[in-house]
Order: sequence, then C-alpha cells, then structure tokens
Amino acid sequence: MTALLEVEDLRVAYGKIEAVKGISFSIEAGQVVSLIGTNGAGKSTTLRTISGLLKPVSGQVRFEGRRIDGTPANKIVGMGLAHSPEGRRIFARMTIEENLLLGAFLRRDQAGIQADMDRAYERFPILGERRKQAAGTLSGGEQQMLAMGRALMSQPKLLMLDEPSMGLSPIMMQKIMSTIAELRDQGTTILLVEQNAQAALSLADHGHVMEVGRISLSGTGQDLLTDESVRKAYLGED
Ligand code: ATP
Repeated sequence: MTALLEVEDLRVAYGKIEAVKGISFSIEAGQVVSLIGTNGAGKSTTLRTISGLLKPVSGQVRFEGRRIDGTPANKIVGMGLAHSPEGRRIFARMTIEENLLLGAFLRRDQAGIQADMDRAYERFPILGERRKQAAGTLSGGEQQMLAMGRALMSQPKLLMLDEPSMGLSPIMMQKIMSTIAELRDQGTTILLVEQNAQAALSLADHGHVMEVGRISLSGTGQDLLTDESVRKAYLGED
C-alpha cells in the first residue's frame, strides 16, 4: 500500500539559502505525524512546499501516489490537502462565517458545505455565537480555531497545521491540542508542525526532529518523548 503522502529527498531554497536539505518521510492514512525543531529548522518551508506554495530545488512530493511538486497550490487543495499556515492568516475584516466559507471555495455541494459549517460551530461554539462578527475581533486562540475550522471546510484527506499553539494561553493550547486529538480519533490524517514538542509528540504516531534543514531523528511519538537527546534539547530537561 502506498502512503498517503511521501516526501523524498526534498530540497528547498530561498535564493542561495538552502532551508531544506534533503528530507524524506511519509504519512499513512489515519496517522498523526509531528515535525518538531527549533526556529529556522525548515519546518514551515517543508509545509509550504508540500502545499505547492514553494517549488523544490529537487526531490519529490507524492500524494496518493501522484507527484504534486510543481502542481499549483489551488489544485493541491482540490486534491484534498489543506494547510493551516503559521500566524493563522485569517481575514480580519471578513466575518467568521465568510472566513469558514473560503475554506470551501472549491466545493459545489451546498448541503454538504452547510453540514460542515454546522459541525465547525458544534466543535467551536464561540465561532457559531459570533458568526456574523468580523474575524479580527476574535482572540488569538479563537482565531486559531477559525483557521483550523477553515482548513477542515475543504474536507481534506490530509490536514497540515503549522504551529497551532503559537502565542496561546495554556488553556487555549489545551483546547487546540484536544481538538487535534479528536480529529485524529475521527480518522483525520494530520501533519503537525510544533515548537511545543511535548504536546506534538504526545499526540503523534510518528515524529521527526528537524535541525537546520535535515531530519536528525525519527521515531514513534513515544520513542521521541523518552529519548534523552530530545528531552534535553526540546523538552527543557537537564
Ligand atoms: P519557524 O518556526 O521559525 O517558522 P521553521 O522550522 O518553520 O521555523 P522555516 O520558516 O522553514 O523554519 O525557515 C527555514 C530557513 O529558511 C530559515 O533560515 C529562514 O530564515 C529561511 N527562510 C524562511 N522563509 C524565508 C524567505 N521567505 N526568504 C528567505 N529565507 C527564508
């Protein structure tokens, strides 16, 4: 069986700066895979390349066995790959409802779209209560819920989340992480990029540690959580 996503010897550069230096990993349907690592390790660049926003210098990205590197980003969304970017990128002046609908821009099944809007409001009641308000009035954590809700509106086969816990209070972070666990339990395949290694690895079937453009260590979430070098470098232990 081919994996849902396969990344093979991927290299990505910004001009002369090589941000990703030949990484390989794959994700099976139904798995949660976490990429952890410090600032500048190349995690966001990896996600941007998978979703078609950047073109690799070399290497391949395959989704359901088909090559997608070089495919325009909007086509990749249509194939079932959604990306909730770092910094959330919600449209502050548009309403919460309009932001969610943007996630469904390629869909034509009105009844299905409405059912998924209802699910988003069920999952995140605050979004339902304030659906007619400008999205910019939401708190950071609520905006993260909106960004996740919007990505889910495309009914993705693979959901990529870039730093969903960034800048959130511990309570909000807990809420976002339990939502990710819920999505996992419902069978959603997720590629999670996080600086919060403890949370990201606890949720993950597999994890990869990225350091300056390379994967330095891989294992199950549990293996990495108990790995001494990971504990020292990423979990703040002596
Ligand atoms: P962070 O959590 O800080 O986003 P990251 O692991 O996601 O870290 P990237 O954002 O992928 O790392 O950055 C990898 C490298 O590429 C860094 O050295 C960064 O400075 C560089 N980089 C990222 N975006 C650009 C850009 N638009 N132009 C030039 N260099 C960039």
